[in-house]
Amino acid sequence: MLKFDIEKQDGLARVGVIHTPHGDIRTPAFVGAATRATVKALTMQEMRALGSQAILANTYHLILRPGSELIQEAGGLANFSSWHGPTFTDSGGFQIFSLPNVKITENGVKFKSHIDGRNFEMTPESSMRDQWAIGADIHMAFDHLAKSDSYEDMKEAMERTHRWLDRCVTEHQRLAEGTTNRRFEAVRDNGSEIASEPRNDGRERSGPRTAYSCANRPMQYLYAVVQGGTFDDLRAESARYCASQSVDGFGIGGVFTADGMDTMLQLVNNILPEDKPRHLLGMGQEPIDLFIGAEYGCDTFDCVGPTRMARNGSLYTNDGRINIKNAKYIHDFTPLMPDCDCEYCKNYTRAYLHHLFKTDEITAKVLASIHNEHFVVHVTDRIRESLISGDFAAYKSEFLARYYHQ
Ligand SMILES: [Zn+2]
Repeated sequence: MLKFDIEKQDGLARVGVIHTPHGDIRTPAFVGAATRATVKALTMQEMRALGSQAILANTYHLILRPGSELIQEAGGLANFSSWHGPTFTDSGGFQIFSLPNVKITENGVKFKSHIDGRNFEMTPESSMRDQWAIGADIHMAFDHLAKSDSYEDMKEAMERTHRWLDRCVTEHQRLAEGTTNRRFEAVRDNGSEIASEPRNDGRERSGPRTAYSCANRPMQYLYAVVQGGTFDDLRAESARYCASQSVDGFGIGGVFTADGMDTMLQLVNNILPEDKPRHLLGMGQEPIDLFIGAEYGCDTFDCVGPTRMARNGSLYTNDGRINIKNAKYIHDFTPLMPDCDCEYCKNYTRAYLHHLFKTDEITAKVLASIHNEHFVVHVTDRIRESLISGDFAAYKSEFLARYYHQ
């Protein structure tokens, strides 16, 4: 089982440490969205420098390109991407169900690649195999996204998600046994074994690594995904079902706005076992998501929003978001946030970033992404510190009043 130590609790909120084979995650923590094994516009070294503790990649995108086998050949996601820290993979269900012409059966989902039209089928079993090959520390079960927000569709999707969870758990356990009793797959084309390079110490290495054998691969862990949309009875049923399974933690899916998130998380997290970590899937674009998520018992968060907004020039400040492309920043030679210690705020002015956006320089997206990712990582870090020191409520009201001008 994945080791998770809770150091402090305050109601449903908790401060803890998730111990993964690639290092520890001090929670609550914001996890960087590295959809295609990269956080858009940022290097992994920049991610580490801005304080990120973990990344989350997407199985759907990675099986299309470059393929899970290639990432396995490279020694797994951490080696391939040079992110030598904790890693998650989402199953990709969310993206697949959003594609046109998806054929859904009880067995799984058939779809065409949006890149080259190739036919793919993803089943709970193949999702587990692909996630094992990609080699993240923490995997998400393959879940079924509802066709609509209606109760009937939500119930159908939840029930299938539960049936698929059973199959994910079985396949995950079969693959887990493989790591301890046999060597498999990681051999070069000529049949020679690839040098073993297990990585269990959590420290950063320099330079590219060779791939390592699967026999020495660290253990990988599975999270069930709680569904049920906005319906209390379905959320409760899904939380109970997921809690009854032999899994290492929980993803909470299908949450799209902060409206009603507090009551839903209270319901779900009062049912889920306390001693396993909980990941709020796809939330964190709005800082209030992080406060509500942490307050009601979530340990980690991921969202593509901060870097996506950055690429459009929309930047977080303590006084709310601004658009740096606005003409009022042409002559603004001050840092964006004087008290931010990201590489952009420490070294450049608003006027300079405005100029980079106006001239469509690549560096504009880099600097903006550094700042936005740094902002959400550090707000979450500050939430953790405030839970430890006991001033979470004060920090929350002060932050939200200033940010949202309440
Ligand atoms: Zn900054």
